[in-house]
Amino acid sequence: MAIVNEAAAPAVRHHPSRSGFGLRAEVHDEIKNDFDSVLVQLIKAAGGTHQVGRLTFRLAQEFGFCYGVDHALDLAYETHVRFPDRRVYLTGEIIHNPTVNEQLAKMGYSFLRPGDDVTADDIVLIPAFGAPTHELERLKNVGCLLVDTTCGSVVHVWKRVEKYAREGFTAIIHGKYDHEETEATRSRTTLYEGGKFLVVRDRAQAQDVCDYIEGRGDRERFLAKYAAVATPGFDPDRDLERVGLANQTTMLSSESLEIADMVRRAMERRYGPDELKARFRSFDTICSATQERQDAILQLIEEPLDLVIVVGGYNSSNTEHLCEIASERLPTYHINAPECLVSATEIRHKPAFSKEEATTQNWLPAGNITIGITAGASTPNKVVGDCIERIAALAGAA
Ligand code: SF4
Repeated sequence: MAIVNEAAAPAVRHHPSRSGFGLRAEVHDEIKNDFDSVLVQLIKAAGGTHQVGRLTFRLAQEFGFCYGVDHALDLAYETHVRFPDRRVYLTGEIIHNPTVNEQLAKMGYSFLRPGDDVTADDIVLIPAFGAPTHELERLKNVGCLLVDTTCGSVVHVWKRVEKYAREGFTAIIHGKYDHEETEATRSRTTLYEGGKFLVVRDRAQAQDVCDYIEGRGDRERFLAKYAAVATPGFDPDRDLERVGLANQTTMLSSESLEIADMVRRAMERRYGPDELKARFRSFDTICSATQERQDAILQLIEEPLDLVIVVGGYNSSNTEHLCEIASERLPTYHINAPECLVSATEIRHKPAFSKEEATTQNWLPAGNITIGITAGASTPNKVVGDCIERIAALAGAA
């Protein structure tokens, strides 16, 4: 299969700026000062439990910044120190956390908007989610310095999807079509002539795909629903004959595995077990940080808790999934800042599976209670610590 655009991404992916400017030690204290929390450090050192008056806080074993976010922030801070006088752009939010993005804005980073006149003298940071191939190509042609903070786990997914495209398999991506990471991942199929993708968001959509594979679908109805989240010109009769599964790194791990299994079984029923190897590929591309945080919240909600607070950006996919997991068992409140804790009776939060923020009354029960705490991979410990302090203050326990 001909490679039509291979020069675009690999050149960016291997850009020397990806490993930083040798200033890691220099920025370490500043990053710690901006995002770390003494309180959280103390609670961790004490085994994850913190008692204040009538409240007991229990921290999940894994939460907060992942290796990909640490890496992205190192590069952003190093760039700022190395080039204090250059114009620096971000192609989008470096990670999905308002506190972090506000901090970068204070340092002079601004979002690249259509029509911005980027020149060879400028610096552009590629976020941890990566960026679509056409955007990387455009910036490469401008000649600006690209600082690529794309997480290694995201690059791992790209490699998988590129392999599918190269070998004539349609990449079925379990993810959110408009999420920056999935946008970048699906664009990798364009590096190979005839490369195809189809994005499925959840089990229900995966079931539609399985039904079609097994001959139970209606072509017009299928295209009406899925043409917008697939390669232009997608033909389900042709493009679902050979499929490879991948996922956005931050999806619900159990759902991704189930979707891969559903599609595998559909292919087997349609074509028979002997054909499976030639027609089906799968690879779990949930990153280890996401997996560890999901495992940790599953473990935490086994404990006798009264409620769970999940801290993280409302547009953070991995944080949303932590909330979904906890809410199956306990009252759970996904908040994005301490200010969401309005009073001892009122909380602003984003309920599981909802797109909008809601307000709930009487969220903090009376008496001695235990509160589980977790946070997404893009949430600074500082915000987690501030939330714990605010809950304690609201409960009159500080
Ligand atoms: S959540 Fe996973 S893929 Fe995303 S930045 Fe963190 S380590 Fe990388």
